[in-house]
Formats: sequence, structure tokens, C-alpha cells
Amino acid sequence: MKIIDLRSDTITLPTDEMRRAMYEAEVGDDVHREDPTVNRLEELAAEVMGKEAALFTASGTMSNLLGVLASTRPGDEIIVGSEAHMLWYEVGGASTLGGVVIRTVPNDEDGGLDPADVEKAIRAENIHFPKSTLLCLENTHNRCGGAVLTREYTEEISALAHRHGLLVHLDGARIFNAAIALNVAPRELAAAVDTVGFCLSKGLSAPVGSLFCGTKEAVERARKWRKMLGGGMRQAGIIAAAGIVAIEKMVDRLAEDHANAKRLAEGLARIPGFSVNPGKVSTNIVNFEFPANVSDFVVKIGERGVKFLARGGRSVRAVPNRMVSAEDIGEALERINQLVKEAS
Ligand SMILES: *Cc1c(COP(=O)(O)O)cnc(C)c1O
Repeated sequence: MKIIDLRSDTITLPTDEMRRAMYEAEVGDDVHREDPTVNRLEELAAEVMGKEAALFTASGTMSNLLGVLASTRPGDEIIVGSEAHMLWYEVGGASTLGGVVIRTVPNDEDGGLDPADVEKAIRAENIHFPKSTLLCLENTHNRCGGAVLTREYTEEISALAHRHGLLVHLDGARIFNAAIALNVAPRELAAAVDTVGFCLSKGLSAPVGSLFCGTKEAVERARKWRKMLGGGMRQAGIIAAAGIVAIEKMVDRLAEDHANAKRLAEGLARIPGFSVNPGKVSTNIVNFEFPANVSDFVVKIGERGVKFLARGGRSVRAVPNRMVSAEDIGEALERINQLVKEAS
């Protein structure tokens, strides 16, 4: 039985081309800035995001943490969406290691924040208050089902933050998915923000790594913090080589993942009892609910070789990725249909 793994796009394995690039990579000591492959990846990332500089990091979590560390001081307050990855899944690093207060503003279902809410959350000058110094956005939005923030929205909300003296960090773990969905260059989606992080190891299929991008000053501050966090890697060109292939060769194919996500959502919508809105699926994430009469859906369908991520209650997440073909989506839907028939 073929395993169809729809838990996450992080399960994607490196391509043969990546492995060859890793084998052949020219390397040096990156802590001394002597790794030509890391240097090339960082230049490429900066160019793609339209920023002055970039820094290779161990993970998206580290890039977001560096976004906080580079732009705030302990005791500051940062504003994040109530559904933000930075709030839910990054172990509270911003507070623990950055010493900042995290203030939340409700995310709407499209991954955005109401500008009026953000404006209200920004602290006035007052002896009692922490200082608001950073607004954090997320594109695409993970917990909001891969929702996309447009360039126009990003500009509007960033201008508001800047007017009040805040900097803006964009968690762009899946910004290439957003760019493909909107048919714009990623740099357009990052143009209005001060710093942006993106992942190589999700839909782009590299084995490891993320990039943190911003001004030269922000990136140099982040470089020092990265060293303190133990993230100064030596011959990191070995993994950076796969990242270069990811950016140069793996972006356009994300459209296939988006088509498969749509296919999956449309198929689920036809199975009695499933709750899903295919019209809301704009990238590679599908959030849905399974029928009340099917208990332990994720476990049971897992036993039939289709893996999903349980989100609590009857909510489930699927993330089509390079390891899953259009035929596999059809096969997964058939297995789900069969399971539901047997349950009723
Ligand atoms: C995956 C993800 C991250 C973190 O990436 P890791 O490399 O797993 O640390 C950050 N933000 C969002 C929106 C993500 O989906």
C-alpha cells in the first residue's frame, strides 16, 4: 500500500539535483564568511526578496526569532496575529530569548489583521506601558489555511506600523506559495516590510534551512545573535547548495501543489459529512472537518496509508507537496470514501 503523506510540505525529500549540488559544493568556514556557496545563497535570497542582505539560518523558527532580536530590545512589545505561527509554534522564543511582551490582535480568516485593531494595539507614550516596536505578519498564513496577503494589504498595514514608529517583520515561510498564487514576484510581497524570513525546506524541498533578509544593519545584528544561539555553522555550503537549487528550480512547481490542494478540497466536499470550502483554498494548505460519525478519523485513515495532521476536535490539515501526485490525491479520496462508507 502506497503511503500518501499529507501532513506537511516539510516531509519533502531533496531532489537528485540537490544531492548532486551538495556533493559538488565548494565550501569554507562560514563563521569567517568564507563559504562561497553560503555567500551565493545569501546573495540570491537578498536579490529575490529585494533586500540589501540575507542570512542563512537553521530554520524558519530561527529566522523569526532573529526578526524579533534584530528589531527590538527586552521589555518592548511586539504585535502578532492571534493565529500566528510565531505565537503558536515557536516555543515562546520571542519572550524567552528576546524578552519581549507578545500582544495579539485577532487574525481574520484570510490571515490578515484589521488595521483599526492594530492601531488600537499600538501603545501610546506612557510611563506605565511597554514600547510597541514591531508588527509581525505571516504570508502565506499557516493556521488560516494557507491564506495569502496581497501586496496592497501588506503595504497598507506596514505603512500604518511605520507611521507609529514600528518596524515590520514578515514570516514568509511560504512566501513563494503566495507569490505563485498571486502571480507576482516575492519581492513585491516583501517590499513594504523591514525584515522577512522564508523556508527552503517546505514546498521547495531542500533538506534544511531558511533565510532571514533585511537591511545590512539588521542582517549584521541577526548574524551576531545567530552566533549566540549556536547557529554559526562552519562548512554550511553543503546544505546551502540544496537551497540554491530550491530557489532557482523549485518555485514554479508549487503551482502543482496548489492544484492538488484544490483537487483534494473539491473531492472532500463531495463526500457526505465533510466540511470544507474549496473556494478558500488558494495555496497548498487545506483545513477541513470530518463527519461526526467517524471517530478517530486521522488515526483510522492513517492505518489506510493516508496521513493527515489532527488540529484538535474534528479539524484536520492537509498539505499537498512534491511527494504526492494528482493520482495520489485521487487514491487518498477513494480510501477516505471507503472508510466513511464503512463507518456509516
Ligand atoms: C513552518 C513555519 C515556520 C517555521 O519553520 P521551521 O523551519 O519549521 O522552524 C514559521 N512560520 C510559518 C508560517 C511556518 O509555516
